[in-house]
This record gives sequence, structure tokens and C-alpha cells, in this order.
Amino acid sequence: MHDRVTAEYGPRPLVPRREAMHELVSTILSQRTDWRNEDLAYRELRTLGDWDTIRALPTETVAHAIRASTYPEQKAPRIQATLNAILDARGSYDLDFLADLSPQDGLNWLTALPGVGVKTASLVLLFNYAKPVFPVDTHVHRISTRVGAIPRMGEAAAHRALLALLPPDPPLLYELHVNLLRHGQRVCRFSRPACGACVLRERCDAFAVHGNAVPPFKD
Ligand code: SF4
Repeated sequence: MHDRVTAEYGPRPLVPRREAMHELVSTILSQRTDWRNEDLAYRELRTLGDWDTIRALPTETVAHAIRASTYPEQKAPRIQATLNAILDARGSYDLDFLADLSPQDGLNWLTALPGVGVKTASLVLLFNYAKPVFPVDTHVHRISTRVGAIPRMGEAAAHRALLALLPPDPPLLYELHVNLLRHGQRVCRFSRPACGACVLRERCDAFAVHGNAVPPFKD
């Protein structure tokens, strides 16, 4: 899968795209939200001030700022609770101590924060600190299940199952993640995947069973 999607979409060097707190909060905002609205919500959130200011503002003010994202009334208290927990634990919003932790300790620390699941934690650890973990978003999960790399299971379990199959090679894990995301957006879509244009179809279980009529994905 890695070789084929890299040949199709090109190499993707592992370079942090934004600082760790930005990655963490943006990933919370991105849940069920496209990247444009996630970006809009993040930019408006940051107009409110620094993290300490955002943490202390009325939750309705934060929810209003992130209204471009879905479920702002749920995400605003989650973001503030996460900021509170980071400040309580570290005395600042600097996450660079994660670079010195093992991947598992980093996952444990981040997933203990309110509102941070294994996908968000894996994104921060791989993207910002080049740790050998593999973020499984909806696209990675769907494609991996359809091709038959993993049996049908929830996203959280898929993190463990896929990581066990993959080498502990952060540049490869990053490249595979971002290229599968692109493949999921363009070709192996939730419904009516474009199997005729898919570089994975020769090895895909769903295509072997359904041909060009692969059904919508149910996780
Ligand atoms: Fe997805 Fe179809 Fe490609 Fe299989 S062949 S990975 S179902 S697009």
C-alpha cells in the first residue's frame, strides 16, 4: 500500500506542519469538520488571545469563535478542559517534553487529557515529534478495512492493529498516513469509491468481492 500510494501521490517528507499546540487544538476542531472550516475556526479562536486567555474566557465566547467547526458547544469546553489539564500538569503550554518520552508514554500522557483520543495523540506525536505511531483517521480506517489489511474493527483498535503490521519508521508512517488520506478523499471515498481508478484494486478484498459496486463503508 505504501509503495503504490507513494508512486501515485508522490513522496511526502516528514516536516512538522504547525507547532504542537496548534496541531492538538486543530485536531479537536477537525472532528467531523472539513479542513477549511477547521482552519477558519482555529484562526478565529486565536483572535481571542493566547492559550491562557482562551482557557479563562466564558465557554460561550469560545464556542462562538469556533462556530465554523461542527458541535462548537461540545468542542469549546473540551478545548478549555484540555488547556486547564496541560497547565495543571506542566505549568505552561509547551509540549516539547513529549520529544523525550517513549511513544507509549507520550500516547498515555496525551490521551489522559480530556478531549484527546488516540488519533489526536498519534497525530501530535508523529507529526511534531517524529514518534513511530500511526494516526488512523476515517480515511485510513476505511481503506485499510476495505483492502483487507485489518479485519473490521473500531478506529481505536485499528491504531493498534495497523501499528503492529507496520515498521517503526516515522517517515514511512507519515508518508503512508498522508497519502492514504489523499487516496480516501479522491478515490476510496465513503460511498461509490472510484475502484476503476484505484492503484490498490488488485489487492483489495472489497473490490474482489464487489467489483465496481463496493458499498458505502460502515464502521
Ligand atoms: Fe477502495 Fe475500491 Fe481501491 Fe478497494 S479498489 S481500495 S474499495 S477504491
